[in-house]
Amino acid sequence: MPRFWLRTVEILASRDPRRRLRLIQWLIASFVYVGAATLLITGVGQGWMSTGALNLWLGFVAAVIVTSYVALRSGWTERLQDPSLTVWQLSMGVIAVNWGYLICGPMRTSALFPIMVIFAFGAFTLRWRQIAFVTVFAVSSLVAAVAARWMFPEWVPAQGEVAPERVDLNNILMLIIVLPALAVIAARLSALRQKLRDQREALAKALSDVERLATSDELTGIANRRSIKMLLERSVAMSSRQQMTFSIAILDIDYFKAINDELGHAAGDGVLRQFAALASGQLRTTDLVGRWGGEEFLLILPGGTRGMLHVIERIRTSIRGGCLESRSVTFSAGVAQHMPGETVDALLARADAALYDAKRDGRDRSSVAA
Ligand code: GH3
Ligand code: MG
Ligand code: MG
Repeated sequence: MPRFWLRTVEILASRDPRRRLRLIQWLIASFVYVGAATLLITGVGQGWMSTGALNLWLGFVAAVIVTSYVALRSGWTERLQDPSLTVWQLSMGVIAVNWGYLICGPMRTSALFPIMVIFAFGAFTLRWRQIAFVTVFAVSSLVAAVAARWMFPEWVPAQGEVAPERVDLNNILMLIIVLPALAVIAARLSALRQKLRDQREALAKALSDVERLATSDELTGIANRRSIKMLLERSVAMSSRQQMTFSIAILDIDYFKAINDELGHAAGDGVLRQFAALASGQLRTTDLVGRWGGEEFLLILPGGTRGMLHVIERIRTSIRGGCLESRSVTFSAGVAQHMPGETVDALLARADAALYDAKRDGRDRSSVAA
């Protein structure tokens, strides 16, 4: 049996949590409508209002309830700016209230109570402009209803009320006093919601800034040592699980100390920045590069050393053509292919040894680890 009910709720309210929330709002509004309708029906028994007028009102309310449900449940409203149909539902509520006011004779003062429900809803979803609109709409349509009562007294059976005009006037004045106060409270809630949204956005941005700062090298903008080391560890883990080999290379700029000494530290920084940019420009999306430290860079490429040597030659050519800080710059590279079961440290040590060989053999060249 619980299964049956679960299934029924699913059919009626869908599984989408946001759609369900909108339907819950609709359900609350519908309860208020049904309650008000019940009250009005008792008024017919008292002879306070005509059956014809009530039936017309009931027809309107039923149409609002049914069309709102169909539009919300089908998901049709999701293409709208206001997928909960809040403004539409509140406006229909205001019309129902004041229409009820027009036809229900001595019960009309209590017909105004549901306006409070409408404002409570508005406070959670509307912006202050929309709240102002609902306020003005509520007051002006009550004035219209009262005017219609006075102009067409034959619509409502006379009840021998004492000073019915005074009752209407009081109601309008009370609404004019109460609604702006409610509107201010609703607008303050709306401002609070906006502030919360802004704070959430600022927090998300701060988080992404922190993430970027923590993983990228300040000078060159490419991955920093910690980040490229993490990527290297991930590559080792992946290669053992998926049997996909990869190679690394440590690139070290030749005689970089001399560049610093001759051109100054700032120019040295410029060379590092341009070197990083030129090297990154030669990589595919599956290739990784990071600043390993000082004037050393680490490359990680899928596949064996042949592909790696090819990429390094491309970088070499672009550095030569790049004329960094109007000075010829060369680099040496130590290349190593990851062997099954090899640790990160062992792989790095082999690449480092290969780099040492390249330096010893005259620089401006690559050496592959045994
Ligand atoms: P080799 O060809 O043997 O690699 O010689 P080298 O001069 O390039 O190597 P060495 O390790 O002796 O010098 C590296 C220099 O890089 C020393 C250091 O001052 C400089 N350096 C390290 N980090 C930075 C930096 O961020 N900016 C600048 N401008 N220089 C840096
Ligand atoms: Mg070095
Ligand atoms: Mg060097």
